[in-house]
Amino acid sequence: MDGKITRNIGKTKSITSLKGKPKIAYLSMEIGIDEHIPTYSGGLGILAGDTIKSCADLNVPIVGVTLLCENGYFYQKIDENGNQIELPIQFAISDLLELLPSTTSVTIEGREVKLRVWYYQFKGINGYVVPVFFLDSNIEGNDVWDRELTKHLYGGDNKYRLAQEIILGIGGIRMLQALGYKTIDKYHMNEGHAALGTLELYRQLNDVEKVRKQCVFTTHTPVAAGHDQFELSYAKSMLGDILPEGILDDITFENKLNMTRLALFFSHYVNGVAKKHGEVSRLMFPGYSIDSITNGVHTSTWVSEPFQKLFDKQIPGWRSDSYMLRSAFSLDKDEIWNAHMDAKKKLINFVNERYNAGMNYNDFTIGFARRQTAYKRPDLLISDPNRLTQIAEKAGPIQIIYAGKAHPKDGSGRDVIKKIFEIMKTIQGKVKITYIQNYDMMIGKMMTAGTDIWLNTPRRPREASGTSGMKAAHNGVPQFSTLDGWWLEGHIENITGWAIGPEKTEDEESDDEKDRNDLYNKLETWIIPKFYGDRDNWVRTMRSCIAINASFFNTDRMVQQYVLNAYFR
Ligand SMILES: *Cc1c(COP(=O)(O)O)cnc(C)c1O
Repeated sequence: MDGKITRNIGKTKSITSLKGKPKIAYLSMEIGIDEHIPTYSGGLGILAGDTIKSCADLNVPIVGVTLLCENGYFYQKIDENGNQIELPIQFAISDLLELLPSTTSVTIEGREVKLRVWYYQFKGINGYVVPVFFLDSNIEGNDVWDRELTKHLYGGDNKYRLAQEIILGIGGIRMLQALGYKTIDKYHMNEGHAALGTLELYRQLNDVEKVRKQCVFTTHTPVAAGHDQFELSYAKSMLGDILPEGILDDITFENKLNMTRLALFFSHYVNGVAKKHGEVSRLMFPGYSIDSITNGVHTSTWVSEPFQKLFDKQIPGWRSDSYMLRSAFSLDKDEIWNAHMDAKKKLINFVNERYNAGMNYNDFTIGFARRQTAYKRPDLLISDPNRLTQIAEKAGPIQIIYAGKAHPKDGSGRDVIKKIFEIMKTIQGKVKITYIQNYDMMIGKMMTAGTDIWLNTPRRPREASGTSGMKAAHNGVPQFSTLDGWWLEGHIENITGWAIGPEKTEDEESDDEKDRNDLYNKLETWIIPKFYGDRDNWVRTMRSCIAINASFFNTDRMVQQYVLNAYFR
């Protein structure tokens, strides 16, 4: 307790000294900045956390705003038949965050909903502090339903979602003002969830151009159905007067308030999260100017301890300058392999101890971890168990480690987990497969560093960017993936990894049968033989993953592009 109180006093001091300086507010429904704060579901939240970390490292004057999500996303358990069970997470909120005295409120369905705020600080490599604010509606005086609004990330129905978006967007901007920030003049909406913030700015400024000057929008969804929208009459009843009659035509589509279109209308700068995703977004929303800034990951967060040691010794300065990882080309191959084996042993020990997986340190290990949903085809690799078994017999032993949660309401995502469990049983003894439950930042770090190859099989063009393959690259782990998202930029065949499926016809929808064949053929004829038979060449590929991809696909580079292209433009 003593430690906590001292730390809290420190926090309060630093927030006071920062007040008045930040220029940018970063609003995101989820922020995954700390392993112990489970207020993220996946890629979007981890990206937000990594963004804030790089801003802190680079002294970028930004503040983060998100929802508290007292029960996080959910804790995943899977029974022996592959049924996903969702349990609430309890985290030590008051040990990790500091409750501040500031309050504000929003109007939902005509009711006043009071908000309070929790504070977290991330200290960058040079000591520069970026605050993150977690909005909380669970306070006395609020209606029972309203008190639940900051409990579950992506929980509840459409109404719950819209109420959460009112809190994030409108409440977020009001809270920053209640906290005394006076110099923020850029609001970065990370995905459409925060788009209602534009209505609060419009209410205050009463001038579309003025709002536009202040708003930056990053879209993450290359599928039309993935964009939040609400029937206009319903949105009106929830939002009330803040929905401006005069511009309704501009911000609705097919009589729905569409959060992406709202953000597009009010932003002076809009981007997708990889070059291809920029193109796809321009086709989806003709008439808007949409740029692209390819995602990255926060280098020192995702480099495993063994590689941290190696880089500290051989590439001093890499922690404050991710571009220095270019010089990984000069790393000793034995040292790379030894660092990899250390990271791999940690993962293998983990699955052997926890799941009795019986895996070996020396066997070729494939990793696949991400949100489990149909378009990512998690079962593509194991969908022909006979073929896979033959490959293992011919080319060498194969181990597969899976992880990932399905959204509770994604029926086909839940089904795919069951399918993996079914195949796991039929293939037992021939190919070792294990499924690590409750995928989170800790597991993600262990898996991206400890597997030999990182597999990704999205149906094109559904993967906006993907970032776990970038984490793998930071640990010298090559990616094997369909050419979608960031991989179109990071893939050099046989040098940074391998492609699955056709290269030239990238605008075609993926063909499962063709992709499966290509996946198996490459494993059998190129990848596994190289792993077992030409270690020197394999480690050279590992090295170029670090030198070519980690040095570029990091959030230091990404944040610098946001600063130049979005924030100060
Ligand atoms: C990195 C990460 C993700 C996102 O990975 P993608 O490749 O973008 O799907 C999701 N969840 C966790 C826990 C992660 O660490």
